[in-house]
Amino acid sequence: MTPQELAQALGKARRDGREWLCLCPAHDDHDPSLSVGEDNGKLLFVCRAGCPQERVLAELKRRELWPKPNGHWQGLTLEQYARAKRLPADFLREEFGLSTAERG
Ligand SMILES: [Zn+2]
Repeated sequence: MTPQELAQALGKARRDGREWLCLCPAHDDHDPSLSVGEDNGKLLFVCRAGCPQERVLAELKRRELWPKPNGHWQGLTLEQYARAKRLPADFLREEFGLSTAERG
């Protein structure tokens, strides 16, 4: 997921310098106020209308726009996911806290 992909998934995406602006999922937004950026491969976001980060994050997770540490890539091991994304598994593990979901 890139900032652009996330912004476009949320709607009314437009570029703002190095970042993207889009509709904030955590409040009734009509004028894009969620700023999405990237630092070292990590997605960063902030609602300029003042929504708490955890509320925005909860909405992103509910809409499955945020990788969960467990469960989201069910049926896929971290190594398979890493290969699919052409990223080293260690990078994913360290940067995103991803791990292979254990069933049961
Ligand atoms: Zn907001």
